[in-house]
Amino acid sequence: MTTSTLSGPKLPETLRIGPFRVKSFGSHALAGQIYRQLALGRRTELFFANTNFVVTCQAFAERFNDDPAITVVNDGIGMDLAARLMHGKRFQENLNGTDFIPRLLGGSPLPLRVFLFGARPEVVREASRSVERRFGHTVVGALSGYGVEDELVCERIRSAKPDVVLVALGNPLQEQWILDHAQQLPPALYVGVGALFDFLAERAVRAPVWVRKLHLEWFFRLTQEPKRLWKRYTVDAFKFFRICRSAKLEAS
Ligand code: UDP
Repeated sequence: MTTSTLSGPKLPETLRIGPFRVKSFGSHALAGQIYRQLALGRRTELFFANTNFVVTCQAFAERFNDDPAITVVNDGIGMDLAARLMHGKRFQENLNGTDFIPRLLGGSPLPLRVFLFGARPEVVREASRSVERRFGHTVVGALSGYGVEDELVCERIRSAKPDVVLVALGNPLQEQWILDHAQQLPPALYVGVGALFDFLAERAVRAPVWVRKLHLEWFFRLTQEPKRLWKRYTVDAFKFFRICRSAKLEAS
């Protein structure tokens, strides 16, 4: 028997970025862990932390650290830069929900019951069709993220008994929603997916592959929605590095 068989799968390294403990996973290992948790009927809360997440979720950061069912992974070049500056290390892979969730749904060894919550009504409807058509899973519920009471969402999730709940409300609403409700709901994968439904519904365009490879998708999105996003990539980027620096000073 080899050492690796004896010690089981290698645990991902945890890197502290600001007040968050971020797991350095490869996408293959992360998908494997999620499939195992689903097979065991356990709850997972998965969050993709980018610079905007760090800034907008900072006020309730300790809530991500106190539950073993919660996994926070890195998303975007800003997180990688912070890891290099603060720890002299790189994350294994640049993960983000828009790429990872389709890969997870597409690679599932079992058919899944998927619930979609968030975005405008027509967007979540089209995204649901896309999940069924592209991945062959069953959509067991779909609710818009505007004007829908939390109680109704919870009631629908309880009766639908999904394996996967995709929550697309943007940061920090989707994170707050999952942290506030997932523990009282049926065990499933609960994941914050940002603008994924807009992409699945083909209402928003992804950056060309070469732009993504250069880690410049954020710049492409900025050119698409400058009014809404300029602050995120200027003032908030500055705040992000300030948060990281003060967390490092506190720890030393
Ligand atoms: N959204 C929502 N309810 C809200 C605010 C946002 O359903 O109260 C949806 C929005 O329509 C979009 C998704 O959340 O489909 C992601 O929003 P955003 O583009 O801000 O996400 P990000 O830029 O962080 O990926």
